[in-house]
Amino acid sequence: MRLDGKVAIVTGASRGIGREIAVQLAGQGASVVINYTKNKEAAEETLTAVKAAGGRGIIVQADVKNLSACENMVKSALEIYNKVDILVNNAGITRDNLTLRMKPAEWQEVIDTNLTGAFNCVKAVLRPLLKQKSGGRIINIASVVGLAGNIGQANYAAAKAGLIGMTKTLARELAGRQITVNAVAPGFIATEMTAVLTPEIKENLQRQIPLGRMGTTKDVAYLVAFLASEQAAYITGQVIAVDGGMTMQ
Ligand code: NAP
Repeated sequence: MRLDGKVAIVTGASRGIGREIAVQLAGQGASVVINYTKNKEAAEETLTAVKAAGGRGIIVQADVKNLSACENMVKSALEIYNKVDILVNNAGITRDNLTLRMKPAEWQEVIDTNLTGAFNCVKAVLRPLLKQKSGGRIINIASVVGLAGNIGQANYAAAKAGLIGMTKTLARELAGRQITVNAVAPGFIATEMTAVLTPEIKENLQRQIPLGRMGTTKDVAYLVAFLASEQAAYITGQVIAVDGGMTMQ
């Protein structure tokens, strides 16, 4: 399952799930582009962790909401590493509110970041990826909320459901070029995103998880590393939940 010689861009890699994905990919031998938008210090901590895992990487600031920023990020990756093989669309935010109270700005910011952000990164990476003629991997970090919905998260659920639709469409469009496109749907994972939930909400969520615990960033990152590998070459257009059995059918 090694990724030696591969170059991966991981958006939102300064913290949480994105940081662990960068560390795992680097640990398997990939060179990683650590993207962040605001938190430079945290991105530097990710780079330190990447190096501690025996890997190498660069830090590139880019707001995924902005297409030209994404294009510049890909340009930076190409300048340093000459190619890009793997894109992990992980950057995401929440702006929770009941729909009745949700402000248009809360709706828009989540759609712009979690859905349009992924589209922007795909747009920026596609031409070089296709030109390389060596296949590739696009892995989109969706959410079980995009499959099942969640009270207070109409914006987030719509963005993640949209990301799943985009994943399947891209999988069809790019299959002929041996570029696989998959979505990972984490459940309830311990990061800063979920740290803000009240103890009552956390307890209630935990009761819905057959495996009886919150997920860790590693639980998600191990799957991403597998999907990025050669061994996952025959998997495309899939949505794979990492949720302790929360959404099993
Ligand atoms: P997190 O700890 O809040 O980290 C979010 C990351 O996204 C940070 O690195 C942040 O960068 C980056 N980011 C935010 N807006 C950005 C933008 N406009 N451009 C570039 N980067 C941006 O979140 P997390 O829990 O690790 O979540 C990561 C992904 O997993 C998200 O897509 C989330 O929806 C998804 N997910 C999480 C859970 C969960 O339970 N935690 C469950 C399902 C899905 P800065 O540090 O610069 O702000």
